Amino acid sequence: MLEFEHFPKIDAHFHSTFYDPVYEQIANDYHLKYININTDASVFPPMEVQESVALSYIKKAPAHFAYIASFEMKGWQHPNWFKEVSNGLKRSIDQGAVGVKIWKNIGMEVLKSDDKSFLMIDDQFFDPLFLFLSENKIPVLTHLGEPRNCWLPLEEMTSERNKAYYTQNPEFHAYLHPEIPSYETQIAARDHLMVKYPELTLVGAHLGSLEWSYEELAKRFDQYSNFYVDLSSRLGHLQMQSVKDYDGVRNFFIKYADRIMYGTDAYNNPEKLISSLINDWQYFTTNKYGESAEVKGIFKGIDLPEDVLYQLYYANAKRIYPALN
Ligand SMILES: [Zn+2]
Repeated sequence: MLEFEHFPKIDAHFHSTFYDPVYEQIANDYHLKYININTDASVFPPMEVQESVALSYIKKAPAHFAYIASFEMKGWQHPNWFKEVSNGLKRSIDQGAVGVKIWKNIGMEVLKSDDKSFLMIDDQFFDPLFLFLSENKIPVLTHLGEPRNCWLPLEEMTSERNKAYYTQNPEFHAYLHPEIPSYETQIAARDHLMVKYPELTLVGAHLGSLEWSYEELAKRFDQYSNFYVDLSSRLGHLQMQSVKDYDGVRNFFIKYADRIMYGTDAYNNPEKLISSLINDWQYFTTNKYGESAEVKGIFKGIDLPEDVLYQLYYANAKRIYPALN
């Protein structure tokens, strides 16, 4: 029986936007390191605040904290935008950022001024940015698109958590906004990046928005050797699939053990962080039955081999984000 508290863990997708000493305590209690993700979302504080908070955690406890930098799309049509963004990112990397985050505002929010079409991530506008990232071997964490449920009416969504989120955030519910490019368009634009930049390390946050089908994820892993994912906020979708297809989901984790990173997506919420750590551990390390607000009914733990757990919880993040110390 593996010891939960002592097993080394990296939460590869974590958010804390103001300093709270409780996280260092949790890190000590659970042998945990966090990658704090800066994000260009309007509900987050300004980017420079997020970055300075992330750096203050690292200064205090470098063994337990790391961060991924980001940039703002604000002013993207200004001719100096890219120069300023790349200078900012260079500074962030020099300060220890282990990667760069890209958010779903690209593809779902930002409009081109000429024809009011949505600016997609594979638009040639971003070529200089991706060349810069690829040439400097800076990993990219992409939250592009949304769960497939986002394009469905509430009553057809497969996840209680998604239903609640889009009920509370109708502005992000693509079904209500037919002008937003389709789910398939979002996924295709992201996949196109891996063809355009085969040297780029690309991590799809939230199971790369392919949470609804481990088989679709497996196809991408087979096709793109530079594609990785984190589990944050989407493990419930795989638990759902494991109710009907236990061996399929378990074998997926084993076969692609070097591609998947653990992450909680806890956002200024230490209670959620701890409950995710405990419940997810039970799912991965035992064959006990568990429950989650997201999944109808009960599901059985997939009891993964220890070497797979070690990759999922620790070694992959170290390899995929080489600047992580
Ligand atoms: Zn997140």
